[in-house]
Amino acid sequence: VKELALISRLLPLLPTNDYVVVGAGDDCAVLDLGDPESHALFKTDAVVEGIHFTPEIAPERIGHKAIGRCLSDVAAMGGLPIAAVVTLGLPREYDPAKVLGIYRGLGQLAARYQVAVVGGETTTNPGGVILSVALLGHVARDRALLRSGASAGDAIFVTGDLGGSIDGKHLDFEPRLAEGVWLAENFRPHAMIDVSDGLAADLGQILVASGDLGAELLQSALPISRAARVRTRSTPRGKPPHLAALTDGEDFELLFTVPSRVAVQLQDAFRAHFPAVKLSCVGKVVSQPGIRLRSPTGWVTIPATGYQHFA
Ligand SMILES: [Mg+2]
Repeated sequence: VKELALISRLLPLLPTNDYVVVGAGDDCAVLDLGDPESHALFKTDAVVEGIHFTPEIAPERIGHKAIGRCLSDVAAMGGLPIAAVVTLGLPREYDPAKVLGIYRGLGQLAARYQVAVVGGETTTNPGGVILSVALLGHVARDRALLRSGASAGDAIFVTGDLGGSIDGKHLDFEPRLAEGVWLAENFRPHAMIDVSDGLAADLGQILVASGDLGAELLQSALPISRAARVRTRSTPRGKPPHLAALTDGEDFELLFTVPSRVAVQLQDAFRAHFPAVKLSCVGKVVSQPGIRLRSPTGWVTIPATGYQHFA
């Protein structure tokens, strides 16, 4: 993944200081601002016309997606959001009504999670619309859920359905904030991430961060979305639905690992607490590196790649 190769070269260039608990490389940075009860979470993300949305997309959905991506990252730490600032780059003579639409969509999702939007900047960008959001959040002190805590033997869970998000979910998803906090408080996952680049790629991040572990996944357990199935049927020689679920990305679901002994209890408690949200156990963490998928015809190796933003 080219983006990852570049990021690994950037990391040594980033200064740090005594406030930093967890620096670059997880879903959010974790900062100690001196509060005895909590740590701060800090995150930025951008959506770019032509990459994350097309020009005809309703401006409200652009705003929703831009802040939703940051909210999803806060959810993946088991935290809650507090406040955001926004930078909007616009082509010259961009319709002011559309600018209001972007802020309306962003503001509606922010308000649903009591997030204040406390500042912003508008600038010109001849190349198209770009919307960048920086988000501050918080999490109970020393309780942030990192990517790096998975152990061999852990059960691997994912919320919701995967694949085919290009048909709408990538714009309209609901960040899993309630689920993330509930998981953190009740089952304290060993590792958690949100699915932005695809199950295989994001699981790969957990496995590498946790010390080059591997995973065995069950094809029959993958929560394949209806959009992925419909898309496969309507696309000649399109990718099979289970591969869409593994690699499409932008699902913004929570992917996490827990000790296998609590897996059944977790399933039952989650179903009782979130009856409308699917939760699937898709496999287990193993010590041998790499991701293997048990398909109807046998074991296959899955490259830990998904949607590549720089491709
Ligand atoms: Mg993330």
